Amino acid sequence: MKALTSRRLAQLTGLSHGFVPEVAFGPDPPVWRPIQVHGGRIARPSGPNAPPQQADGAAAGPGGPAVGVISADCVPLLLGSPAGVVAAVHAGWRPLAAGIVEGAVAELEASGATASTLAAALGPAAGGCCYQVGAEVPQALGAGRHARPDGSGRFLLDLRAVVVERLVAAGLHPERIDVVGPCTICSPHWPSWRRQGPSAGRALAWIHAPDR
Ligand SMILES: [Zn+2]
Repeated sequence: MKALTSRRLAQLTGLSHGFVPEVAFGPDPPVWRPIQVHGGRIARPSGPNAPPQQADGAAAGPGGPAVGVISADCVPLLLGSPAGVVAAVHAGWRPLAAGIVEGAVAELEASGATASTLAAALGPAAGGCCYQVGAEVPQALGAGRHARPDGSGRFLLDLRAVVVERLVAAGLHPERIDVVGPCTICSPHWPSWRRQGPSAGRALAWIHAPDR
């Protein structure tokens, strides 16, 4: 199946990226991926063959490795700066509660990027149409306005809206934030933990800034 891309990110000269529905169909050479643990840490691998480390995001500069994250319902988030500082972030609700969006933007700013000129793309993820959670999730995220009661005592949460809101709070321009692709739970074309359970595959979101 075809990878999805973001027009906002593609506008940044030289960056390549993609949202791929199955990790095995990722780019070659393969991307560096962290061992994802639903935490808030951003790794900074030294090169494509850097040893794996536990984190839920990865950042790199121009000429660094392609970086990526895998997901099945959690929000895959890609960030890029005009100067070629990039990050891939696994923005599930636990990493979000641990501050991973703010941490990723801070990591890119520490590498010389300016938040207001960053472009961001959110890939296919559990949508507000389907993503049923207990009250503790919107509460942990301070995101009650993005959750609506589903009539059964639980809530439908728009997790991508939470990510967008956090990006804007971290200084990104709303016009440079792109939401790409469908809800993974009600689209048959993307892996979904909620729909498929343990047999679900994993989608890959990756980004690369070549040397310049
Ligand atoms: Zn849905």
